Amino acid sequence: MEDRGKKVKIAINGGIGFGAKLNSKQLLTISKYMNEDDELELTTFQQLYVEIPEDKKDEIIEEFQSVGLACYPVGNFVKSLRTCNFCKGEEEEGMPVAKELNRRIAGKAVPFTLKVAYTGCPVGCGEPMLNDIGVMKIRDHYNLYVGGKAKGKDAEVGKLLKENLTPEELYETVEKMIEVYSQMGKKRETFYKFINRVGSDILIG
Ligand code: SF4
Repeated sequence: MEDRGKKVKIAINGGIGFGAKLNSKQLLTISKYMNEDDELELTTFQQLYVEIPEDKKDEIIEEFQSVGLACYPVGNFVKSLRTCNFCKGEEEEGMPVAKELNRRIAGKAVPFTLKVAYTGCPVGCGEPMLNDIGVMKIRDHYNLYVGGKAKGKDAEVGKLLKENLTPEELYETVEKMIEVYSQMGKKRETFYKFINRVGSDILIG
C-alpha cells in the first residue's frame, strides 16, 4: 500500500467475544492497508488505532467488517464496550447482552470520550468499577455503576447506581444516561466531572 494521501484514524477490534482476539485473516486484512513504516497503536481499551486513506474509508471499513472486524470512530464518542473474557461461557456470562448494549451505544457522540466496561460475573475482570460506566452481571440480572476513574492521584471506584436490572432495563438506563450526558455535558467535560457537577440522580431522573 503506497497511498500517501490524507489519512483518517479509526479504531478497530475483533468485536465482542471470548477474550480480545484477532485472527490471522483479520491481521492480514489490516496489514494490506499499512506501509512498512506505518504503526498500529494498541490502546488500553481493547481497540487498535489504524490510519487509512480518507478517500477509501468506506470501502476499507466494509472490507474490515467482512472479515469480522468491528470499526469505530476515534475521538469524543462512546468507546466500544470493554469486556471480560467470558470464561464461564457465552450465555452464562451474558455475552448477547454485552453485544446488544455495544450495538446500541458504541460510537455515539458525547462531550468527551466515554468508557463503558462490562463484566460477566462479580469477579469483575472487565474492571467495571474503574470506568465511566460499569456493568456487572450477577446471576440473571445486571448492576450498573457510574463515575469510576482509573487515572490520576484522585482515582476512584464507581458507585452503584442501579441493581437487579433486566437486559431491557439495562439498555434503556444506559442509553438515557448517555443522552443526558450528551445534552447537558459541557464541551470536553469528562463523565466523571459531569456527574460531580450535576449529581448522578439526574442520569436516571
Ligand atoms: S468476570 Fe467472571 S466471567 Fe468474566 S472473565 Fe472474569 S471470572 Fe470469567
